[in-house]
Order: sequence, then C-alpha cells, then structure tokens
Amino acid sequence: MRTPLVAANWKMYKTVAEAVVYAKELRVLVKDLDEGQVVLAPPFTALHAVAEAVRNTPIAVAAQNLHFETEGAFTGEISPRMVREAGAERAIIGHSERRRLFGETDELVARKVRAAIEAELAPILCVGETLEERDSGQTFDVLDRQMATALDGVTAEAAEDLAVAYEPVWAIGTGRNATPGQAQEAHAHIRKRLRERLGDLFGDDCRIMYGGSVNPGNAAELAAQPDVDGALVGGASLDVRSFLAIVDACRT
Ligand code: PEP
Repeated sequence: MRTPLVAANWKMYKTVAEAVVYAKELRVLVKDLDEGQVVLAPPFTALHAVAEAVRNTPIAVAAQNLHFETEGAFTGEISPRMVREAGAERAIIGHSERRRLFGETDELVARKVRAAIEAELAPILCVGETLEERDSGQTFDVLDRQMATALDGVTAEAAEDLAVAYEPVWAIGTGRNATPGQAQEAHAHIRKRLRERLGDLFGDDCRIMYGGSVNPGNAAELAAQPDVDGALVGGASLDVRSFLAIVDACRT
C-alpha cells in the first residue's frame, strides 16, 4: 500500500525568515501524520533553517537541485553531500525548469540521480512532455527516454525511496492541469516501465506524484487515480493553508 507523498517546491521564493515561519506553522498542522508524506523544498539558502525547524516532525526537506560532483571548482554549485549535511533527505532532480531554462539534458539528470543516491538523498525524479510532444503523440516516447536515461545503472536496492514526479511541462505554472484521466494514463505507463526496469516490487511500491497546476480544488480528483500517489506542488504550495489543503486532499 503506497502512502501519498506531497512536496512543496518553493522555487526561487521565500527568504530564510519567511521559510522558517511557514515551516513552523506547517509542523503544527501536520504533527499527526506519519513520516515520509510531506516534503518542503526551499531555496538552498533556507535549507538548513527549514530542516532545523522541522527536525523530529513528519516533514522531510528536499533540495530543488544539486551538482553531481562531491566537491570541486564549480562556482555557484552545491554538492549532494552539502545538501545532505544541511538536513535534506531528498532532492528534486530534472525539474522541467532546470531542463528548459538551464539546459539540463537527460544525461546530466542521470548523473545527478546517481550522485544523489550515492549521498543517500532520495531523488524526486521529474519527467514530462511538452505540449508539442503531447500534440504529436510522443508523450510515452518522451517519458520512456527520460526514465531510461535517468535510471541507467540504478538498482532497485540503491534507488530505495526514489519517487517519480510526472509533470507535463504544459501544466506547470499555467493553471492548466492534466485531467485525472491524462495523469492516470501517464502514471500507469511510468509504473509499467519502473516494473520492467527495477522489478515488480519496486514498481508497485514507488510513489509517482503528479505535478502541474495542482491546487486545493483539483488535488483530490487527481490523487484519487489509482497510480497517482500524491503531488509536487509549485505555486499553490507557497501559502501554508493552501498546501495543507492539498496534503489533506491527497490523503482522503
Ligand atoms: C512545479 O514547479 O513542480 C509545479 C508543478 O508548479 P505549479 O504547481 O505551479 O504548476
């Protein structure tokens, strides 16, 4: 039985002070949840402070990105070991904004997935097609390519607790979410590939989150789909009450 995983991707929003106020409010609101269901992904600057604020609570913290090397002359980059030390347990990898705005290729994403696992950070691997790709019938091909490259050389044992986020690019920040049927179809396809690649057990247990204009009004219907195991939330996660409503909707 998979428990839902709901993550707040704050992107480049919130100062340290704002992030801590939010984290402290949320920790009271979700104090009765089991561990491993709610994740906050603050900007790097607030990672440590948020991790401290949610220590010994059900909330986990994720980095929004990382570099694949452990250390070195990579000005402006942050290594997996550094985010782990700052208190993160997870890392979002391959977000479409990273792919589209910062030129991240499938190969780079794959290196980051391996580096995160090596540093004992559970990846939230983002995959998803553009509108053009969907309209030309390439959705499954794109998902297959992104998944195959990202998981190349990854074993089920090493990838324990890896989650996948299906995030159609055309739904991110646009207010236009995938229909529950579209999400279910893509998620079922992703799960099939996870089973083939990493075994039935892994495929059955792996949480596949939906991301793309999730809000308190549409979360329940999306999360009710059999292969939708929670949500990766951008805009609607910036307000703690709105995020909590999505967490609740995904659990009912
Ligand atoms: C995201 O950034 O992962 C995302 C899904 O954003 P939004 O919820 O704003 O569409």
